[in-house]
Amino acid sequence: MAGRRGALIVLEGVDRAGKSTQAGRLVAALSAAGRRAELLRFPERSTEIGKLLSSYLEKKSEVEDHSVHLLFSANRWEQVRLPLHSTFNQCLLSNFSLDWCKQPDVGLPKPDLVLFLQLRLADAARRGEFGQERYEDRAFQERALHCFQQLMGDETVNWKIVDASKSIEDVHEEILALSEDAIRAAAQRPLGELWK
Ligand code: ADP
Ligand code: MG
Repeated sequence: MAGRRGALIVLEGVDRAGKSTQAGRLVAALSAAGRRAELLRFPERSTEIGKLLSSYLEKKSEVEDHSVHLLFSANRWEQVRLPLHSTFNQCLLSNFSLDWCKQPDVGLPKPDLVLFLQLRLADAARRGEFGQERYEDRAFQERALHCFQQLMGDETVNWKIVDASKSIEDVHEEILALSEDAIRAAAQRPLGELWK
């Protein structure tokens, strides 16, 4: 229907929680149901800023921690296009305050729904070895989990926890149902601005 906006739905979770698997399934299911759906990834490595981040993640270059946080945020801003498009957050790299980390993302399109794919790190470990990239290690993932817990305390954002230990199909069914609700609700109200 003309003028109706889509929903911005974000999938979050630790490494191997199933974000890529479920994002692909969700976009395929929505498309098959006749909805326009687009998959965005963060970081998006194809842009100039994305290339800097990719090189940093592949441990081919070093970037100072504050700078890299701002580059991750810039990589979200450069993908903001109307009427939807953006992402949510990237977790703390160092011992920066959560408030400092949130500032550059203030005003980004606010997700209509953030699905947190909850999985114990021990269960994630059973899904395969860590990759070779930066942040792909147990200590970082534990800190990421702690940051997610802090972020989920923010009642201005619509977080929903999904048990990611279930089968791919069961997780998909749950994510699809929550997404359909979010799409219906989004059509009734304007897109918000994050943390404003
Ligand atoms: P992420 O993008 O969160 O890092 P992936 O979607 O790449 O996670 O999944 C990581 C691995 O776990 C892949 O090998 C994938 O096939 C497997 N996987 C994903 N979801 C499940 C699930 N519900 N049960 C078992 N294995 C899964
Ligand atoms: Mg992934």
